[in-house]
Amino acid sequence: MKDNSRADIQKVRENIKEAELVLVGIGEEFSLKETNGRFKKEEYEARKEAYQGLQKLLQDKNYFVVTLCTDGMIRQAGLKDERIVEPCGSYYRLQCADKCTDTITVPDEELQNKIKDMFQGKEEKKNIERNLPDCAKCSKKLTWNTIEAENYAEEGYLEQWKVYTKWLQGTVNHKVCLLELGTGMKFPTVIRWPFEKITYFNNKARLIRIHSRLFQTTEEIKDRSTGIEYNPVEFVKELSIEA
Ligand SMILES: [Zn+2]
Repeated sequence: MKDNSRADIQKVRENIKEAELVLVGIGEEFSLKETNGRFKKEEYEARKEAYQGLQKLLQDKNYFVVTLCTDGMIRQAGLKDERIVEPCGSYYRLQCADKCTDTITVPDEELQNKIKDMFQGKEEKKNIERNLPDCAKCSKKLTWNTIEAENYAEEGYLEQWKVYTKWLQGTVNHKVCLLELGTGMKFPTVIRWPFEKITYFNNKARLIRIHSRLFQTTEEIKDRSTGIEYNPVEFVKELSIEA
């Protein structure tokens, strides 16, 4: 840990405490990495701990979470489902590979357990993919409802996006803390740039950007933002310890 990290962490903790609303953006540094169709148990465990820490930090706050992750881990940490939006989709939802219909299918419990096992490195992805159910309309195999799908069905998150936009309107002129965790340049239009814009237009906003490399914020919001060079998974764990 760097010398100034403890002070940084304490300051962020205070920012969250003082804020009326907390907006969390989770980016690609939080995603579970796949190597040859397998995920790693250690990565899963580290994130699980971080998400539980996040839940602890947010439980008494008026919050919203936007995540680029598709592993569904955020929904397993005890946060409120109606306070989460996953614009890149989720492995816990399925769609027709051809998108012959907008229908989104929620996997049954057995399959959900297999998906969880997959993220913990116990199951190979291709073994699960081989046994995904068929589309009720065209009988083609269903696929993961994520941005990686060739014909990504955005219907999987759009309703929740509306809820998010409405929540955002309620932040105007309020003390809002924007906490960005590992959001780089993969999909900057979803979290990174809008968060800068919100901070720019709301002079009671405070942006905290945690990233291991791309932690810098822009000149226009330098008085209302802090960039911290840190692994975001580790940062959240540290942040929640004394919370
Ligand atoms: Zn179909």
